[in-house]
Amino acid sequence: MSIDFIIDLIKTLLCIQSPTKVKIKKPNSPQEVPVKATPPEDKPKPEVPAKPPLHLVYFKDIVDRYGTPYNKETQQEDEKIKHEWEQQWMSMWRGDEFEKATGIKWPQNAPFKKIYCNKDLIPFLNNVFVNLIKKDLFKELKKFDGCWCIRKIRGRDDKWSIHTFALAVDFNAEENPLGGPLTFSKEFLQCWRDAGWTCGADFSRIDGMHFQIVEKA
Ligand SMILES: [Zn+2]
Repeated sequence: MSIDFIIDLIKTLLCIQSPTKVKIKKPNSPQEVPVKATPPEDKPKPEVPAKPPLHLVYFKDIVDRYGTPYNKETQQEDEKIKHEWEQQWMSMWRGDEFEKATGIKWPQNAPFKKIYCNKDLIPFLNNVFVNLIKKDLFKELKKFDGCWCIRKIRGRDDKWSIHTFALAVDFNAEENPLGGPLTFSKEFLQCWRDAGWTCGADFSRIDGMHFQIVEKA
C-alpha cells in the first residue's frame, strides 16, 4: 500500500514536471532555420520550347481564322481573292531571323534558308528547328519540297489541302512519297510532335514528307 502510494506520487510528480522539461526546449526561432538561397535566374530551361498559343483542329477552324484563298462560294481558284489573301497572311520565314528569335545558329549546311509560309507557321517552324538542332537530328532534313500550294488533297476532289493555307510543309518528298515508305527516324518525328505539329507519318494514309500545324483536318 505504501509502495503503491509512493509510485503514484512519483508518477504524479513526473507528469507535473514534464511540461516544464518541454518548455526548456526552445523552439527554433525563424532566424535559426537555414534559408536556402534560391538564385533567381537559375531555373532549368525547358528541353523543348513552348508551343505557340494557336490550336487549329478541324478544317472549319482554318476557314474561321483565315478565310479562303479561293472563292468559297464556287470552290474555284480566283486570282484576285488569292492575291488579297496572300497580302494578309503570307510571310517569309528566314534562317537569319530564326537566329535572332531563338539565339541558335542556323546550320551553315542547311538545305534551305527561307520558307514562304503563312505567318502563323513561323513560330512552329522555329520550334521544330530548335528541337531538331538540339537533338542533332536536323541532318535528316535533306530537301525542302514546298509549303504554299492552292490545291485539293491528292485523290480528293472535294477537299482542299492544308497547303492551300500554307499551314503545312513537305520535306524529303522523293524518299517519303504518299502511301509510304517512310525514312524519317522516330526521334525526328517526335521533335515535330513536341513542337505542336501533326506528322503525315501518323495519317491512316501515310504521307511521310508532310507536316502540318492543323491537328485533324
Ligand atoms: Zn504536304
